Amino acid sequence: MALSLLQQAAQYLKKALPLMLKYQIPTTPTNYALWYTYVSEQNDQLNGQLDAIVNQYQTCPPSAAEALYREHIGSQQELDTRQLRQSMEAMATELSQSIRDTSSDTSAFRAKLDKNFGKLNQLEQEATSLDQVMDMVRLLVKDSDDILHRTDYFQQQLDKAQQEIVTLQHKLLAAEKDVMFDALTGCHNRRAFDLDFKTLLRDTPKGICVVMCDIDHFKRINDTYGHVLGDQVLKAVANRLKEGCRDSMKVYRFGGEEFAIIVPSSQLQVARHQAESLRRSIEKVTVKDRRKNSTISNISASFGVAEWQMKDSLAKLLERADAQLYEAKRLGRNRVMPISG
Ligand code: GH3
Ligand code: MG
Ligand code: MG
Repeated sequence: MALSLLQQAAQYLKKALPLMLKYQIPTTPTNYALWYTYVSEQNDQLNGQLDAIVNQYQTCPPSAAEALYREHIGSQQELDTRQLRQSMEAMATELSQSIRDTSSDTSAFRAKLDKNFGKLNQLEQEATSLDQVMDMVRLLVKDSDDILHRTDYFQQQLDKAQQEIVTLQHKLLAAEKDVMFDALTGCHNRRAFDLDFKTLLRDTPKGICVVMCDIDHFKRINDTYGHVLGDQVLKAVANRLKEGCRDSMKVYRFGGEEFAIIVPSSQLQVARHQAESLRRSIEKVTVKDRRKNSTISNISASFGVAEWQMKDSLAKLLERADAQLYEAKRLGRNRVMPISG
């Protein structure tokens, strides 16, 4: 009988983990992916090369692991992660099924499980790292093993599984939180913007303004000082924007050197005023270039402001803010548009 995805994933893990232990392989995402692929025997070339390395060194040195990973798996990482998620979903289904078969009074627990695994589906398209995925796989394999083979300790295992599921929930929550932030600047990201905007619109539909902000001639800053200092300028500007956000204003990195700020419960005039004060504060940003012993100043940004209208859509609102930003650039940068309103 063909193995289910669950059984197969569990078997691979059961094979991979002792091997990693035996050869003293650190449990990094790269190594997990490498050894998982190895025991799944999908890639003869990889298996041959890894065998040779292990024969020679009795382990797989990190540099060799990196090279193997890059050659055989790197480009496929996304695919692998997706396959792992699919395996997890299969595990989840099977785990639920076994509980259904074993006990008649587990509806509350089952509901929890279902909810929890629904979250896995949600995470499908999000950037969960391979080691988080592996953590979840390990928990699920453990749960399913326990419940399948030790029915006499069922209740005990059930409690334990429940605890682990709470842990898993926390992990998922943390992973969800991670995907709301931009790693470089620590600002919220575009995904958070969309969610926050939707929530605001539902709760306080009146007077929401969006401010688009784009650093002026940022390419020139990169070209003159290099990308590393360019990144520092980005961070410094982001920090200044965050510091300058009053009340419930919030700043989001939209991409590249572009930020968006939501100004809730305010008319255009108020939002323009806030943007003007952010603009002035960015003029004062300086970043030290230690190698050249000089200071980067003359940093500026242009702003476009738009207010939510009846029967508006987010796309239309952003379009209007963008058009104002474009106008600010056209008129010479370092300004807020519209001038009045
Ligand atoms: P403008 O005043 O018209 O906005 O000109 P600009 O040079 O700021 O705009 P342009 O769109 O031509 O260039 C933006 C540059 O931002 C190009 C890209 O290399 C750089 N950039 C985007 N993201 C990052 C990043 O994360 N770090 C660094 N250092 N540069 C980035
Ligand atoms: Mg720019
Ligand atoms: Mg830009």
